[in-house]
Amino acid sequence: MRVTILALFLAGCVPANDVREAPVDTGFEGEGELDRPEADTDTDTDADTDTDADTDTDITVIETDQACYLGPNRDFTPCLPVGAPNPMPSGYAYPSATSAQYVEPIAFLDLELEEPSTALAPNFILSEFAQLYKGRFAVVQPHAVERIQDLRDELGALVVNSGYRNPDYNAGVGGALRSRHQYGDAFDIDPVSVSLDALADACAAHGAGYVGVYTTHIHCDWRDDTLSVPFYGASRLREARERPVLDAEITRSSLGFAAPASGWDEGEPLREWRALAEDGTVLFEAVGERFTAPAGTAIVEVEVGRALTRQHVLAP
Ligand SMILES: [Zn+2]
Repeated sequence: MRVTILALFLAGCVPANDVREAPVDTGFEGEGELDRPEADTDTDTDADTDTDADTDTDITVIETDQACYLGPNRDFTPCLPVGAPNPMPSGYAYPSATSAQYVEPIAFLDLELEEPSTALAPNFILSEFAQLYKGRFAVVQPHAVERIQDLRDELGALVVNSGYRNPDYNAGVGGALRSRHQYGDAFDIDPVSVSLDALADACAAHGAGYVGVYTTHIHCDWRDDTLSVPFYGASRLREARERPVLDAEITRSSLGFAAPASGWDEGEPLREWRALAEDGTVLFEAVGERFTAPAGTAIVEVEVGRALTRQHVLAP
């Protein structure tokens, strides 16, 4: 498969042609599950959408700019070329949106041309944020990489389970229609040495536009930040951002109380339960999918994903 890179250097306005032979198609395809680390092994089935369906076609990548990352020495020296694939391969049908914050990228990193081990920050390499099997053309916004390094500096080791997903891959793993993972400013993170709670707090403290608190991981994205110019162009303005529509209710059965919830597209939200006496005293607290209230409970309260609270008043 031949990939032609037509480099148009903006600064010098000197067109240059650089024909490079791309590596052989790896044949990676999307997993039928959320992209956990083990998804990197080649154990996939053929059931999912083939994100590399167009690799038989010659794709010309018109290089438009470069994205410069914090880098291992925090001096913004690693600058990777970004470009506009022509034709755009399948798998990149971005959902329409009225908000400029959800526009399609105008340029992408070409993962077939980049070394996965390229350090984008002191503690993070490219392959932690974008992998070929989630789309050959990827968006990794530099300011989001800076923020995750900030989190790493504060909290110690972190595991990034998921970064960029192209729209086909995102749909294949049940991601939300407008999941920020498609826009290159979202990460699913596991803390190594701190609690999920501490990680969620740190994401918010470091300016995350949205923090999703799950039982398995924390989703942090920087959807409120100005979109990165190399990927989205200079004309993009900050606009009102969308938020997931979250809902939950308390149900009661012989198994105890539960709180079915909607709007958490990446797993089960954290559920923090409290049993309150009539005067508001907390009798008992627990975390989990189900909850049993002790004798004397007047009100059962649950906080779901640290985003909304529901109460159930027991009959006296
Ligand atoms: Zn996520």
